[in-house]
Amino acid sequence: MKVHERFLRYAKYDTQSDPESKTYPSTAKQIALLKDLKQELDGLGVDATMDNFGYVIGKIKANTTQDVPAVAFIAHVDTSPDASGKDISPRIIYDYDGKDIILNEEIGITLSPDTFKNLNEHVGEDLIVTDGLTLLGADDKAGVAEIMTFVEYLHHHPDVSHGDITVVFTPDEEVGNGTKYIDIENIGADFAYTLDGSYVGELAYENFNAAGATVVINGKSVHPGSAKHKMLNSLMVAMEFDKLLPTHMRPEITEKYEGFNHLHNMAGNCEKTVMKYIIRNHDKKTFAKQKEDFLNASAFLNKKYGKDTCYLEIEDSYYNMREKLEDNETIINIAMNAIKNQNIHPVTEPIRGGTDGARLTYMGLPCPNLGTGGYNFHGPYEYLSINEMEKAVEILKDINNQIVSKEQ
Ligand SMILES: [Zn+2]
Repeated sequence: MKVHERFLRYAKYDTQSDPESKTYPSTAKQIALLKDLKQELDGLGVDATMDNFGYVIGKIKANTTQDVPAVAFIAHVDTSPDASGKDISPRIIYDYDGKDIILNEEIGITLSPDTFKNLNEHVGEDLIVTDGLTLLGADDKAGVAEIMTFVEYLHHHPDVSHGDITVVFTPDEEVGNGTKYIDIENIGADFAYTLDGSYVGELAYENFNAAGATVVINGKSVHPGSAKHKMLNSLMVAMEFDKLLPTHMRPEITEKYEGFNHLHNMAGNCEKTVMKYIIRNHDKKTFAKQKEDFLNASAFLNKKYGKDTCYLEIEDSYYNMREKLEDNETIINIAMNAIKNQNIHPVTEPIRGGTDGARLTYMGLPCPNLGTGGYNFHGPYEYLSINEMEKAVEILKDINNQIVSKEQ
């Protein structure tokens, strides 16, 4: 089966995840596709299991006696809660002519290269688009389809030598829980790649170091009519706290490698105010310095207004995978070469967020991210280049060849 046919088949499943859910996976409907994928792996002669959490793990035993490292390929089946994933009705545009694509005449929704400049790069390619009513689910069913097509290729080409290969399909990535219950031991790989990026040629191995800070300001509420020298308005102190942080480090005025502190929630009254920040930076030292700024601001206010005025809690969320990958240059180089061998220009821009790969890297499984050929994720303007999907499969084959030949 062709990679895009496979994608169209998976797209039929509604696999939207739900951030409000208390269950795992967050929605039961994801299980339907995961079950189907397990069966498909069975049919391709792969030793596949699905655990109670829904993780599908397929193992392809090495067919070479040489000592080659074990690799895993990972993609997620859920689609974003940001847009409907029900009754997706994809359409193929053959030989794209570079003009506006009318997605849905009735509701007047058009995918235009004037707005989405990246379309200009796909003239002459075959594209898959939505009907304007749902997202497409290329994120990340394109990755799932590419991995599965690679598995099928190995099944039909027993002459292609390979080491141990594990394929992993996960639920709930879009709600930040894709790796929550993942069994790294069972995956049993030396390193891995997630296929969950956009442009095929994307190779992402740098992401933010991330922490969350909760600041609680305790004030003293007194009737405003008789408040002189008695009241401590926690709202005013909270604003003072924020002013003590560097003003140039905000998401709205930073980009690329520039980190930020972001106040994303603030609620309170005279008596008590709670502020929630996220702290982000690619650079470990600057990340530590930002956290120090929070501690200093808190200490300053406690000195000024009394020791129990400000209560601060900082919790790290995830770290930049680059540091862990630096001792493992070959993992990057293998992917870089595989991309170049397809005559594609590799792009290694830093991610301004986190990835499942970053979490896996710190769990002990080094895991950069590769592109899948999907664009404009999480909404009706999402589209997928069939040509790029095919190249993504070639990149997987090449990664395997390099792993085998590197050790010879
Ligand atoms: Zn994704």
